Amino acid sequence: TVVTRFAPSPTGFLHIGGARTALFNWLYAKAQGGKMLLRIEDTDRARSTTEAIDAILDGLKWLGLDWDGEPIFQFARADRHREAVEQMLAAGRAYRCYATAQELEEMRATAMAEGRPPRYDGRWRDRPASDAPADRAPAIRLRAPQEGETVVDDLVQGRVVIPNKDLDDLVLLRSDGTPTYMLAVVVDDHDMGVTHVIRGVDHLTNAARQTQIYEALGWSVPKMAHIPLIHGPDGAKLSKRHGALGVEAYREMGFLPAAVRNYLARLGWSHGDDEIFSTEQAIAWFDVGQIGRSAARFDMAKLSNLNGHYMRATPDAELLAALKAALPHLPGGPEAAARLDATGRWPALESALPGLKERAKTLVELLDGARFLTDERPLAVEAAAETLLTPDARALLGRLLPRLEALPEWTAAAAEGEVRALADEAQVKLGALAQPLRAALTGRKTSPGIFDVLVALGRDESLARIRDQAQ
Ligand code: GLU
Repeated sequence: TVVTRFAPSPTGFLHIGGARTALFNWLYAKAQGGKMLLRIEDTDRARSTTEAIDAILDGLKWLGLDWDGEPIFQFARADRHREAVEQMLAAGRAYRCYATAQELEEMRATAMAEGRPPRYDGRWRDRPASDAPADRAPAIRLRAPQEGETVVDDLVQGRVVIPNKDLDDLVLLRSDGTPTYMLAVVVDDHDMGVTHVIRGVDHLTNAARQTQIYEALGWSVPKMAHIPLIHGPDGAKLSKRHGALGVEAYREMGFLPAAVRNYLARLGWSHGDDEIFSTEQAIAWFDVGQIGRSAARFDMAKLSNLNGHYMRATPDAELLAALKAALPHLPGGPEAAARLDATGRWPALESALPGLKERAKTLVELLDGARFLTDERPLAVEAAAETLLTPDARALLGRLLPRLEALPEWTAAAAEGEVRALADEAQVKLGALAQPLRAALTGRKTSPGIFDVLVALGRDESLARIRDQAQ
């Protein structure tokens, strides 16, 4: 069975590129009826933090990308990594290197001066153990092949051939006994039974070195798929400005996880011309063979449009639930939730959703449209709405008040009857009264149908808001 893994380094949040890598691993595992494992690569002790681990786990959960079993922590496996090195030493596939920091620095400086990449010159490769200085702990290096070539048969990049003379004897264990990243990845992937390594193309040169380690250990190399990087809409490397943000930023911007999944799936992978598809469809269609080689372009405007589509396609009760779940993370969301609780206006919000979601691309915009339900009196009136509240309009509102106060039943039809009757009586168009009424009730020029707003707010709140603006 297929086993994939997502192996983030917890040195920052789960950024959008990492989320896409996780998604591809997840989709492939699901498509193949396999498993996706999670490995936290926390060997960089100075830069790994528990906050970053939490942010990664939260981000994956929010995106709905689950993993099989418990997360594996790489640092905790250092003994096992050292054991693998012992195996390589015993087989003559690794050796002790006593080169000093100064010697290594000289090698580097010479290479730089000669304009070639720095390489270890193999000076301890064939020295007898009797040469070992007693006062110095050795690093352990891989005895890498010096002739021939190392081949990575990549499912996306094709056959990548690297001449072995270009790869030096890499360090497996540092002189302080700590395993290197290159070693740890190989040993962990092997022990976890990983069959497919799907990760960013920036790891392609590592893949050649890791292949040499697999061979030295006599282990079979997993299949590899190095996926293209994500660029901004202008083709430049993805920057913060383009959306190179943590996944939690997308949550705070009010995107739906399903929309983000759909969008990320299309970054580098495609299924014909299909732009909008469910996660189930993506699972049914996904294959690493269809991943392209050119960099994907991340376009925030496209993501917003797709999200708007998802919101409109979501049934109201479900959308309300999604909004409720998102509120703690949206700007002003906790306060809005508290107001909706206190005023009992959740059902009013649900019935306003069909109108609100036509005008919103994100949950943030949806919440903004619902401000007439969540704002406190006296309402802040937007400048554009303020212009509707002329002295004449305020006087009309003043005449409307007693009529509404006298209504025996607070229904949309009854309120509409009174508004129409007053417009007739005052010989003004309906809009000349309805628009100021909207401004008074919502503080805005646009809102859901004004008679529905009256019902949603209820008698007391509606009358109080009209009174605030009437003359
Ligand atoms: N920890 C690496 C990263 O976050 C990924 C290593 C791998 O996938 O092999 O870039």
